[in-house]
Amino acid sequence: MQHSEQGRARRQRFQERLHVQHDSALHQRLRQHLPAAFNQRWTRRHWIHATLFTTIGALLATIVPGFSNAIDAPLVTHSTLALPLPPLRAGNPQAIPGSNWELMRIKPGQTLSGVFGDLGIPSTTLARVLDHPGTREALTRLRPGAELAFDMAQPGELRALRFDRDGSHRVELLLDGDTVREKVTERATTVRTVVTSGEITSSLYAAARKAGLPASAVATMTDDIFKYDIDFDKDLQPGDRFSVVMDETWREGERVDTSKILAATFTTGGKTYTGFRFERGGKPAEYFDITGRPLKKSFIRMPVTYTRISSTYGMRKHPILGTIRGHKGIDYAAPTGTPIMAAGDAQVKFMGTQRGYGNVIILDHGKGYSTLYGHMSRFGKVRAGQRISQGTVIGYVGMTGLATGPHLHYEFRVNGQQRNPASVTMPPPTPLGGAELVAFRAQTAPAMARIEGMEKLIYADADTKPAQAKGKGKG
Ligand SMILES: [Zn+2]
Repeated sequence: MQHSEQGRARRQRFQERLHVQHDSALHQRLRQHLPAAFNQRWTRRHWIHATLFTTIGALLATIVPGFSNAIDAPLVTHSTLALPLPPLRAGNPQAIPGSNWELMRIKPGQTLSGVFGDLGIPSTTLARVLDHPGTREALTRLRPGAELAFDMAQPGELRALRFDRDGSHRVELLLDGDTVREKVTERATTVRTVVTSGEITSSLYAAARKAGLPASAVATMTDDIFKYDIDFDKDLQPGDRFSVVMDETWREGERVDTSKILAATFTTGGKTYTGFRFERGGKPAEYFDITGRPLKKSFIRMPVTYTRISSTYGMRKHPILGTIRGHKGIDYAAPTGTPIMAAGDAQVKFMGTQRGYGNVIILDHGKGYSTLYGHMSRFGKVRAGQRISQGTVIGYVGMTGLATGPHLHYEFRVNGQQRNPASVTMPPPTPLGGAELVAFRAQTAPAMARIEGMEKLIYADADTKPAQAKGKGKG
């Protein structure tokens, strides 16, 4: 039991650390569906910071009303669909006379057939519903708390079923004999751009809460935007402050998505860090500093989390061969099965078995850089030749080949020569240039102006040009 709990905690920490860009949308969605898990995380992080600082003072925060109207056009895309719809529970006033809607809310652990069973609807009817195109996917995805509305002709006889296919589409299935007809209504969504700012007195999370910044947005800031430059568990001090420009999605009076941070600044230790969301070349959005340099580093420091270095780079007596020779890599001891991540964006150059290395993967990062990962127990879901992004799980720790215990043998190579990954100068990521930089500047200038304007408004000592005080990352 203890063991599986540890495993779960480790997996959770790993998930939090991993946080690859393409995963974050999914995470945000999961967070919305898992409020309990979310609060747990909030509380834990909150306490870490709360114990660091004891001063509790007034917080300066504001949401500038009407910002969305004031901001320059390139920054925001407003999408407003004009068809407001009553909540699922309210029923439809234009419904067939004599309709008898019953609302069911999915309880944790409850299955779809369980819900149908509770209403006495035969499983043949459920099968007919699920056979309707597009229905099975939507209904089997439903999370606890989701609502289904049933129109019952009489006990056990389903006349119509209403559910939300996704965030913006509501479906009504009308059952008539053997035929199933579908009616789809669009749900109105509004995107509103807001600016908010907070100053840390007790903890980041307390400050964020007072600034109206939801936990999902705080997570984007700490785990996506500034994680390479700021250690949020150690660096924060009372007086540090942040400002955020973000898109909020509203539906039927409810704020449903706040994960899209367009711009953020974070001032800590006298330095102001900046992060701007920008999409290029059809890739997922990335964050850049105000000069157009990616915030993401080319290589992550360690390709495995929660480990210890069992053998450093340099001369040593080989534990199996007994000979003195150079150890051209770093060994990270970790339990068998610990996920191994790609240190940087790469192409899988080799994947297979080599004498000594056992199951091994070599990644080509371009510009003469490559990395090698040995002794894997098994490979991840990658194949030779595939392009993968930083943080992709390429395999799992093991002890195949010449190894006395489970560990990852990691090599960092420059032009084919092994280098010590702990001391080699990592190549800086390529900054934006040309037309991309022009587009980036046009997009970021208004957001930065908003942040500067607001900081001047609420902080007496606000630097008039936070952008110029921008600090370099710690590397
Ligand atoms: Zn080794």
